[in-house]
Amino acid sequence: MPGPNEKLVRLSEAEAARLFEFYGQAETEILNELNKGLLKGNDTRYLQGMLQNVQAILNDLLNGSQQWCEEALPQVYIAGAEAAGEQIEAAGGRVIAGFGAIHQQAARVLAESALNRFNDLTSFIGRRVNDIYRALALENVRGSVVGYKSWQQVAKNYREQLAEQGITGFKDVKGRQWNMRSYADMVSRTTTMEAHLEGTKNRLLEHDRDLVKISRHSNPCPLCRPWEGQILSLTGRTEGYRTLDEAKGFGLFHPRCKHAFGLFLPELAGEPEETKSMSQISRESEAAKKDYLEFTKEQRQVNEARKQWQKYMVRLPNDTPKTFSAFLSMKRANSEKYQELQQLYREVGSAIKG
Ligand SMILES: [Zn+2]
Repeated sequence: MPGPNEKLVRLSEAEAARLFEFYGQAETEILNELNKGLLKGNDTRYLQGMLQNVQAILNDLLNGSQQWCEEALPQVYIAGAEAAGEQIEAAGGRVIAGFGAIHQQAARVLAESALNRFNDLTSFIGRRVNDIYRALALENVRGSVVGYKSWQQVAKNYREQLAEQGITGFKDVKGRQWNMRSYADMVSRTTTMEAHLEGTKNRLLEHDRDLVKISRHSNPCPLCRPWEGQILSLTGRTEGYRTLDEAKGFGLFHPRCKHAFGLFLPELAGEPEETKSMSQISRESEAAKKDYLEFTKEQRQVNEARKQWQKYMVRLPNDTPKTFSAFLSMKRANSEKYQELQQLYREVGSAIKG
């Protein structure tokens, strides 16, 4: 049976997946609009319609994101806080009824900062589509002056770019590049994790509980392995324990982390927990980092394959496997069918480039 922490992590993941799906659909719709527009690049009125359609998709996306930030995030936060409440009760403590101002405020801050990030993304996509529109509209004016269909080259360049990269080029504050799906995925996963950890933490602190225990998993993420089962102080006020922030500095609760924490009561703990020495943690962390590099390398390869699949879907919608997992297994096996598909992709590509 899954423990309370595991249920929480699953709730967070389900909420993140919902948003990922939503952004994935919007990205496909916008790409369709753009590709249709680029084929009719000499029809300025059609292009204006395209611009309006994309804007409508982006507005829907932003409304949906806002709803998600205002409903799903607080829900995950409250679930995190409730889990902490149950732990306090199970330990014989009395739980303060309801969720007061500190919780409301914490949930609001989380929602606002997530919404800002989604806002940045949709504004960026809007500007990019507007740039494409403007470039084509200007070429149309130029074409009517010089009597030469110069828009076709511009449209072809954009078509190639979109087929190769999708709608990418969005950079976050750290300068990393994202596409719509990957950015939405990263933001939703990190914010839901934060929301449930913050909920638990604030509820425990509200009841004057400072010590937590890090969850254990059958197949832990490597960076967190050294911290499994360790007891940490939320604030640093309990002597003899390392702090949550210190552990985060070592990589605990990295993006896509599966871990969580729950209340720890020394008086109820049967077996005295072994607290690892700093040198032991450092030693284990070094080893874990190596594993983590392998682990992220594997993840990177899957991400690369996913991007490739998306490009194939755009260029060869009828020949590419409909699901990513089918594409991935075909690619991993390097089957005859996969080689044929690659060949076809190149052929159609050079036909587009003509
Ligand atoms: Zn982890």
